[in-house]
Amino acid sequence: RKKLHNTILELKGNIRVFCRVRPLLPDERSSPEGNFISYPSSVESLGRGIDLVQNGQRHSFTYDKVFSPEATQEDIFVEISQLVQSALDGYKVCIFAYGQTGSGKTYTMMGQPGLLEEKGLIPRSLEQIFQTRQSLQPQGWKYEMQVSMLEIYNETIRDLLSTNRSTPDVLRAENGSPIKPYSIKHDASGNTQVSDLTVVDVRSAREVSFLLEQASRSRSVGKTQMNEQSSRSHFVFTLKISGINESTDQQVQGILNLIDLAGSERLSKSGSTGDRLKETQAINRSLSSLSDVIFALAKKEEHVPFRNSKLTYLLQPCLGGDSKTLMFVNISPDSSSASESLCSLRFAARVNACEIGTPRRLT
Ligand code: ADP
Repeated sequence: RKKLHNTILELKGNIRVFCRVRPLLPDERSSPEGNFISYPSSVESLGRGIDLVQNGQRHSFTYDKVFSPEATQEDIFVEISQLVQSALDGYKVCIFAYGQTGSGKTYTMMGQPGLLEEKGLIPRSLEQIFQTRQSLQPQGWKYEMQVSMLEIYNETIRDLLSTNRSTPDVLRAENGSPIKPYSIKHDASGNTQVSDLTVVDVRSAREVSFLLEQASRSRSVGKTQMNEQSSRSHFVFTLKISGINESTDQQVQGILNLIDLAGSERLSKSGSTGDRLKETQAINRSLSSLSDVIFALAKKEEHVPFRNSKLTYLLQPCLGGDSKTLMFVNISPDSSSASESLCSLRFAARVNACEIGTPRRLT
């Protein structure tokens, strides 16, 4: 398959945005008479433009790449495989999926359970990393890999690999005493440490896929206990990679963060109260903190507001500086999603306008 762009090669020190429009689902509609999405747009024909027509008004956007509904999981992976590979070369990599609930974030990240061709970018990335690890062995490279998976719900971290089922997600123990929330620290070498978070040594993609299953079970347990929808929380998968070349003594430390963000949809202001309102406020706060951080980095501001949300504080060492960030903005083509799609496209356009330059001190 011929590549249209070699965008990834330019990724160093930059944030890139890929837009993916999922296919219409059976009960959805999109017609030229109503609100609809078209691509590539009339101004761009290289798979970078997308138009959204809402109430007769055309809004045009350009990103590093636009994937139409026909794009397969393989098409997507071809475009990001070099980025994933760079974690083995010692880069800190973050790949986000942003969009309203139902726009295809989880499909993009995880894929369709049980369908091999529809595997998402998390399983594909892991297979590639472990294959490359093997192919680098003859050159003297030895790698150690560690996985952790967590969820951030209402600004609270939940360890998805914890085997302690009795207290995974509530902040009070059975006797009512508060449990110390996971605290996030950054050590001198710029690594993130989350207190008490389960970190598992892994030697194969298969081992990681077992852990992914465990995490997904743990997410659904949380769902019933807290009446929580997984779409209301951020899912953060982290692979830490330490490599040493036994012939040359060269060392590398890379990180691959793959993040399925909480649904970006707004709730109607009138209808949301109680827990739902609290959830929405927490999601809005962390999503806007993420864009604030990206803008502050882009503008090389002295103060980057990493501490404004758990998500940005957790990812602080992996955003900006010498790291590589890619954001997928997932879009539903359904006419009734037009206003949410427009919000997502605008958010992504602002992010895409950012170029994160020189390495900076972590504050
Ligand atoms: P989100 O994670 O954003 O809430 P999902 O990934 O669950 O959304 O996608 C919503 C529905 O659309 C699911 O049934 C999913 O299988 C389907 N879907 C999403 N993207 C695609 C795609 N590219 N091709 C086929 N089906 C898709």
